[in-house]
Amino acid sequence: MKRFWNPFLSSLTPYVPGEQPRLEGLIKLNTNENPYPPSAKAIEAMRKAADDSLRLYPDPSTTALRRALAHSYRLKPEEIFVGNGSDEVLAFLFQALMGQPGGCAYPAISYSFYPVYCQLYGIDTKPFELSDDFSIDLAKVSHEAGSLILPNPNAPTGIALPVEAILEHARQHPQRLVVVDEAYVDFGAASCLPFINELDNLMVVQTLSKSRALAGLRVGFAFASPDLIEALERVKNSFNSYTVDRVAMAGAIAAIEDEAWFEANRAQVMKSRKTLSDALQNIGFEVLDSKANFLFVRHRSHDAAKLAQGLRQKNILDRHFAKAGIDQFLRISIGDEDQCQALILALQILISAEAA
Ligand SMILES: *Cc1c(COP(=O)(O)O)cnc(C)c1O
Repeated sequence: MKRFWNPFLSSLTPYVPGEQPRLEGLIKLNTNENPYPPSAKAIEAMRKAADDSLRLYPDPSTTALRRALAHSYRLKPEEIFVGNGSDEVLAFLFQALMGQPGGCAYPAISYSFYPVYCQLYGIDTKPFELSDDFSIDLAKVSHEAGSLILPNPNAPTGIALPVEAILEHARQHPQRLVVVDEAYVDFGAASCLPFINELDNLMVVQTLSKSRALAGLRVGFAFASPDLIEALERVKNSFNSYTVDRVAMAGAIAAIEDEAWFEANRAQVMKSRKTLSDALQNIGFEVLDSKANFLFVRHRSHDAAKLAQGLRQKNILDRHFAKAGIDQFLRISIGDEDQCQALILALQILISAEAA
C-alpha cells in the first residue's frame, strides 16, 4: 500500500501522453508536434533572455506577453490568460469554472484529458456520441449540462465544426459555459475568438505547441470576458504565481510577432496534409477531412493495430487508440516532406507484404 497517499489518489486514472522516445532516426508522427523548427526570431529572443536577469522572478501577470497577444488578436489584455501550456490552462479552467450544476459535456471521442480533469476535480461528466460520420452534432449535448468543452478542430478526428454552429449553441444556451479548445485551429479552421466580446459564456483556448512549433516551451492561452479570465487568475495565484518563466515569455512574444514564419509554416503543413491525404487514399485508406496538423485514417482491409506495429518496426511512430469506435483508425501527424514520403513507402510495403 502507498501508505502516505491521500485517499482519492488510488482511484485516479491519469492521462497517458503519447510516447516521447529518444531514438536515432525515429520518424515521430505520434504527438502532433510541428515537424519544422520554430521561428528563428523566437529562438534568438530566448537566447537573449537566458542572461543575468534569470536570478529574478518573472512577471507573475505576464503583462508583456498579454500585451503582444492583445495587439495581434485585437483584444484587451484583461481578456487574456497565459499558462504553462494549454493543458495547464485547461486544468485551471476545469477547477475554476467547469463544475457547473448539471455536469460537463464533451464529445465521447475527443481529447482524453477532459474526463481526467473532471475526475480530478469531482465534476460530473456528460459525454455525447459523435455522429456516424465522426462529426460533432451539438444537438446531442445533454440538456442538463452546465458546461461544454470541445476541441475545434476535434482531436483525434481532425474534423472542424463551423464557427456558426458553436456560436448558435452558445447563444441558445446563455446559462452554459462553452469552451472551445483551438489547439489546431491555425491549420485551416475558423476561430471563435472574434466572438468572446459578444458572448460572455464563451471561452477560447489556444497553444503555441502546434502551430508555432513550440511544444517544448509550454505556453498556452485562454481568451474570454474579463470575469472568466479573473477566475483563472484566482486559481493560478492559489497554486503557483510563476507558471510562465522569463525565457518562455521572451520566446512566446517573439513567436507571436513573427507573422511571416507563422503564415509560411501553416501553409506548408496544410500543403503536406493534402499531399499525404491523396497518397494515403491511393493506397486504400479512408481519410477523414482534417483541418488539423494530423490525419485520422483507416484502411479498407488492414487492421490498424497491426499497421501501427509494423510502422513501429520500421522506426515510424503514429498513434493508435484501442478504443471502441475508433480502434481501426491511425492518427498520423503531418511530418515534413521526407517523413511523409517515408511513411507512404513503409505503408505500401506493409500492405503488400500482408496481402501476399
Ligand atoms: C495538444 C493539445 C493540447 C495541449 O497543448 P499544450 O499547450 O501543449 O499543453 C490541448 N488540447 C488539445 C485538443 C490538444 O491536442
